[in-house]
Amino acid sequence: MKKWMAVMMAAVMAVSAAGCGGTSAETDTTAASGTEAADTAADASAAGDDGADNSDGAENSDAAGNGGAEDGADAGSDKVYQIATDITFKPFEFENDNGEMVGIDLDLLKAIAEDQGFTYELQVVGFNAAVMAMETGAADAVIAGMSITPERQELYDFSDPYFESGVGCAVLSTSDATDYSDFAGKQVAAKTATEGCRFAESIADEYGFTVVQFDTSAMMYQDVLAGNSVACFEDYPVMGYEISQGMDLKLLDKLEASNNYGIAVMKGENGELLDMINAGLANLKASGEYDAIIGTYIQD
Ligand code: GLN
Repeated sequence: MKKWMAVMMAAVMAVSAAGCGGTSAETDTTAASGTEAADTAADASAAGDDGADNSDGAENSDAAGNGGAEDGADAGSDKVYQIATDITFKPFEFENDNGEMVGIDLDLLKAIAEDQGFTYELQVVGFNAAVMAMETGAADAVIAGMSITPERQELYDFSDPYFESGVGCAVLSTSDATDYSDFAGKQVAAKTATEGCRFAESIADEYGFTVVQFDTSAMMYQDVLAGNSVACFEDYPVMGYEISQGMDLKLLDKLEASNNYGIAVMKGENGELLDMINAGLANLKASGEYDAIIGTYIQD
């Protein structure tokens, strides 16, 4: 085994030993492998600048003409909210050819902030890291194609749902696998702290496979493409989008753990931000801008 591979494997094993829940320690472990950490930090600061710039000029909440916005303004119109997101979760967040972070989540966030007159900085850190940032107070909210689940609702307050999703399973396009039982004795890939990971872990014993975890979707897909893992579990709209863009995987005909995406804040905190997000989301839905943003990325 090549040395870089061994280092990466060690990082991955350390992560997978800890289950799907995710902790700051897990994030550190994987960052130490050095594969994504530098990029992530660069992305975070670059995108953070963009986020702030994008929302400049939308500071006058009166212009939004909306009760929610005025509450937000009373709470401090000079506040710059820290919003954490995933690194690559297409088409919800990803870097475009111009090096800008775009996608359904980020376009919605920008439009909501403009509508409601608040400013924000984006932290592009990865899904698990985004949730950790919110839990430790480093971020005010997470927008990352985050599924609203009963377990999470114990800890976080979610915005109104904005996208229907669920977990799917993808295998190499050349694979003969049709059922989870085809994975017996083999390894499957999942992304740390996600619903895909939780689902894979929940059926691992029944079907006799092991789950290996990655911090980014890109690394997870790569493990399947390289033949190390026989399958991966991740939200089907995301894998469907990647496959439509040429990723050499195919989806099994199974949809699990149906859920909706919501924007999260810590429970009982940042209520004024959540009110603005919900008011903005409702305005975007009413004006047709919500449909236009979805239509930019998904054409059916
Ligand atoms: N929707 C999934 C979850 O909330 C995955 C989110 C993501 O990977 N960004 O767990």
